[in-house]
Amino acid sequence: MVGRSSVSLPQCGRYYAETSWYAIELKSDIECGSCHETFNTKNHLTARVMLRFTLDDKGKMTKTEMPGHISAKVFEAFRLR
Ligand SMILES: [Zn+2]
Repeated sequence: MVGRSSVSLPQCGRYYAETSWYAIELKSDIECGSCHETFNTKNHLTARVMLRFTLDDKGKMTKTEMPGHISAKVFEAFRLR
């Protein structure tokens, strides 16, 4: 399972999916590929979801699922494990 967060940009309204939890927790800035404004990921967080990847016996990805959204509270508990 992989945590994933999406963030929206105030400048141009584009959405980005960030796969790293650390980028959000460390409040790192990222640059928009469209308008080239930099923005803070944590301040513009819109959703946190879990993704589940199913692999075959050779490690090739065969399926992806989104089991659900994660509330901020649950996310915090999961991260600290
Ligand atoms: Zn932008």
